[in-house]
Amino acid sequence: MKLKIKSLCGLKKVHMKEHFDEIQSLVARPKYVCGKCARVASCGSHLCKARKLQA
Ligand SMILES: [Zn+2]
Repeated sequence: MKLKIKSLCGLKKVHMKEHFDEIQSLVARPKYVCGKCARVASCGSHLCKARKLQA
């Protein structure tokens, strides 16, 4: 899958709407949380300060 979104952290509402399906797949099974913005993602590269989620 080719990703258009670089980082979930800097995402704006307008992008949220536009890329919702993509975002959904990125956050559906989160493995990482951003230590700065509290966003989650399945891949750490989409967060500005990725930390592994302790489940
Ligand atoms: Zn962040």
